[in-house]
Amino acid sequence: MENDETIKYEENLIPYTREQLVGKVQEKLDDKRFQHCLRVEQQAIELAKENDYDVEKAAIAGLLHDYAKQRSDHDFIKVINDKQMNPVLLDYGNAIWHGVVGAEFIKDELQIFDEEILNAVRRHTVGAPYMTQLDQIVYMADYIEPGRDFPGVDEARQITHENLKKGVFFQTQQTLKHLVETAKPIYPETITTYNAWQSAI
Ligand code: GDP
Ligand code: FE
Ligand code: FE
Repeated sequence: MENDETIKYEENLIPYTREQLVGKVQEKLDDKRFQHCLRVEQQAIELAKENDYDVEKAAIAGLLHDYAKQRSDHDFIKVINDKQMNPVLLDYGNAIWHGVVGAEFIKDELQIFDEEILNAVRRHTVGAPYMTQLDQIVYMADYIEPGRDFPGVDEARQITHENLKKGVFFQTQQTLKHLVETAKPIYPETITTYNAWQSAI
């Protein structure tokens, strides 16, 4: 990736400057997770440029994607119940909640209501059968940001830069494989995502 880029928000998508939003994210995360969010922001900018997508929107969604990652299970369960979200969520944990339910914290605490940004946060872990370009950018930026180091990450980077959609399928396939191999419960949307993208690619 090229040098880090500090972008100036000019589209009025959210009621903050970038500096203010960075502060809000930093407040809620430890340094390791915060640095990951900054790298996902940069990676999302790069993928947006490669795919002729709105760079500012991609940057905001990338920076915000793990905003709720360090909330307690108790806080997530309260939101799921209070907002009468799908009770199936209660069978899972932080891995699923911080995106799907995390978007609610972004609305309620940050007054960010752009549904495209919120959906990209909701879908960043489990994907979806239909994903907007923004969803795809954040999903992939999270997976290939320069701090990631797992077997297959270089292949994931190469595929994603060549073809964003192929990257989405690759990540979905790798994640599903990993979950099965480690005997983890699979959230139904993860399988729905896999099936939809398997037939599309
Ligand atoms: P991170 O928040 O930056 O660490 O990355 P993600 O939000 O993409 O993923 C968080 C975790 O969720 C990862 O360890 C994934 O393997 C895991 N994950 C993704 N899909 C599922 C699923 O269907 N079930 C379970 N149990 N975990 C999943
Ligand atoms: Fe995440
Ligand atoms: Fe992340």
